[in-house]
Amino acid sequence: MLDLQKKLTINEIFYSIQGESYLAGLPCVFIRLTGCHQRCTYCDSEFAFYEGQKKSIAQILESIKEYPCRNVLVTGGEPLLQDNATLLMSALLQEGYHVAVETGGNRSLEKVPKEVVKVMDLKTPSSGECERNNYNNLNFILPQDEIKFVVQNSDDIDWAIETVQKYQLEQKAHVSISPTKHELLPTMAEKILESGLKIRQQVQLHKLIWPGVEHGV
Ligand code: SF4
Repeated sequence: MLDLQKKLTINEIFYSIQGESYLAGLPCVFIRLTGCHQRCTYCDSEFAFYEGQKKSIAQILESIKEYPCRNVLVTGGEPLLQDNATLLMSALLQEGYHVAVETGGNRSLEKVPKEVVKVMDLKTPSSGECERNNYNNLNFILPQDEIKFVVQNSDDIDWAIETVQKYQLEQKAHVSISPTKHELLPTMAEKILESGLKIRQQVQLHKLIWPGVEHGV
C-alpha cells in the first residue's frame, strides 16, 4: 500500500507539449520537482533549484486530474534527489498514467519502477558536469529508455558519438543528441550520418514553439 501522504517539493505542474526525447510532440503533464545538485553551463531551469512548495502525493494526483492527458513527465531540477520521487512514480503508475522521468544521470536509477520510461542525460564536456556521469546507471537502462546528450559545440558532438560507440548505447536504448542552439543542427546531421549509428537528432521543440519562455513549457 503506497503512502500518499508522503510529500515532495514541487516547483510547478503544467500541461504542455513534450519538447525532448523520442516522446517529443506528445501532450504531457509535467511535474517539475525542486532542487538540483549539478550546475550545467547550459541549464535552462535554474528557477527550479530552490523555489517550490511541499505537496503530498495525494495532492499532486488530485491536481493533475484536471488535464485531459494520461502522459506524465516527472522532471526537475534533478527529480531523483528527492527520496519520495520513486514513490510518486509508483502512485502515478497505479493510477494508470504513462510515466517518464528526466534525469541528469548522476543519481542512481536502481529504484525507478521498470515501467517508467527513463530519459537519462550523459553530460557532455562543455556542460561542466561530465566528470559526474554515473556509468553504473547503464545497468538499469531498458530498451524503452533514452540516453540523451545535450551538445553545445562540435567537440561535444564528437564526444557523444565516441561515447555511444564505446558503451554500445544504441544497442541498449534510444539514443539522442540535442543541441542548445539550432545553428548546430547541420554539423550534428553531418556527424551522425558519418557515424552510421542509430542516433536520433533532436531539436528542443518547446523552444521552437515558445521561444524565450521558461516556465510552463
Ligand atoms: S542536471 Fe538538469 S536541472 Fe540540473 S543543472 Fe543540469 S540541466 Fe540544470
